[in-house]
Amino acid sequence: RHLYGKGRLNSQGLDLSNEFVLQQLQAEMNEAARQSYAAAPLTAVEADAAAAHEVRNPADFSDIVGTAAFIKADAVPEAVSAAKTVEGAWAAVTPFERAEILRRIADKFEAAMPVLMMLAVREAGKTLQNAIAEVREAVDFCRYYADEAETTCADRAPIGTVAAISPWNFPLAIFTGEVAAALAAGNVVLAKPAEQTTLIAHYAVQLMHEAGVPKNVLQLLSGAGDVGAALTQDTRINGVIFTGSTEVAGLINRNLSRRNDHPVLIAETGGMNAMIVDSTALAEQVCADVLNSAFDSAGQRCSALRVLCVQEDVAEHMLAMIKGAMNELRVGNPAQFNTDVGPVIDAEAQQNLLAHIEKMKAAAQSFHQIALPQDAENATFVAPVLFELNNLNELQREVFGPVLHVVRYRAGELDALIDQINAKQFALTHGIHSRIDGTVAHICRRIEAGNVYVNRNIVGAVVGVQPFGGHGLSGTGPKAGGPFYLQRLSRAAAWQMPA
Ligand code: GLU
Repeated sequence: RHLYGKGRLNSQGLDLSNEFVLQQLQAEMNEAARQSYAAAPLTAVEADAAAAHEVRNPADFSDIVGTAAFIKADAVPEAVSAAKTVEGAWAAVTPFERAEILRRIADKFEAAMPVLMMLAVREAGKTLQNAIAEVREAVDFCRYYADEAETTCADRAPIGTVAAISPWNFPLAIFTGEVAAALAAGNVVLAKPAEQTTLIAHYAVQLMHEAGVPKNVLQLLSGAGDVGAALTQDTRINGVIFTGSTEVAGLINRNLSRRNDHPVLIAETGGMNAMIVDSTALAEQVCADVLNSAFDSAGQRCSALRVLCVQEDVAEHMLAMIKGAMNELRVGNPAQFNTDVGPVIDAEAQQNLLAHIEKMKAAAQSFHQIALPQDAENATFVAPVLFELNNLNELQREVFGPVLHVVRYRAGELDALIDQINAKQFALTHGIHSRIDGTVAHICRRIEAGNVYVNRNIVGAVVGVQPFGGHGLSGTGPKAGGPFYLQRLSRAAAWQMPA
């Protein structure tokens, strides 16, 4: 339970220890598991019928979740034109009215929790626990930005039309966070969800429209990367919110910076997140936090732990515990409550990860990989693996999956280790496990990060409580779910000069 802002409680999700709640959820999810969903772009322009395709469950290719239709990239300018026509009308809606609409969206999401959860499970391979967290975070974003609209935006003007380009790893939460923030600040939105997670985005936008967001104020431009590219190249777009890879953020940045009218860019990208564990750390706690941070969501979070740095004196003991605990992880069908690690998003991601893992098996000092279940075919599972490296230089890039790298360091080398972590230039999410306050304070001061978590896991930032985002190669800031986000999407209103 968390309190944020004006004493509001974050979304509580569902109390699964309550038998009645659990039974009802199960019944509604079973129903949603049998459904087939059809998503078409929700926009002023026509879909490209030829580009409709089947969406399959990454945990079981025989489960067809539905069909998704895309728009053609060359239809994007027409959608932007439609957006431009409603800028003035939407800007005239007061922040209080916008906030009310956002709160209605939050209520609708909570009411639709079982369906949204099953979509996150079947389309994105989320475990049930992750699916609950997904809906809760989306709800929190709506309510938090609603509050912010009423305070921050009271004397601010919107920037105009915003493109919201979102990733598949939080197909509801980040999608909603971007859209809700842009709407809260009074902007018209063109939302381009990741092509892998079109169905849940479509369902969410339908609920947003039902809650009172006018159709042209929020258009859903489902499509592949070319649609996102066309959007960010349209010079009538006043701002872009992007969550995804560092490379694509760079491309968008270059496109926008060619213009002289200063469009806004908010980018949230990758991480090379480290956890520093010294010899005073509590081993059992480290073990639980490492497993959760590295392998939850199959490691597909930009906040996930990529490099565990263990002080040499305790490394043998710590690593033996971590490997033992890894063996107990259940990889498999994410629709079952006891599954810890579901599939990765698609076959392409799986192939890339397997290639990296093979390469590392030859290069690393040692490795430990758990076995996949027998029935792992027709799915995109990747078995969690731990690699011991000699030093951080052997890790060249962010590996977006259930792959943990480990390095050992000597007590006297702590500063050199921090320098090496900082030299990666990703400043997103780091962790510290130590019971020496001075060490914690020292690392916090020296390490470059958006968030540093102390003696706990490093994933699952809570809206309004732990605003999330980094700098350097990790993004532009401002942090999502924090008090500065809407400022970037609005500007100080023009003064009425006294006579
Ligand atoms: N906010 C998420 C977390 O704290 C990560 C977001 C992302 O992966 O982009 O785990």
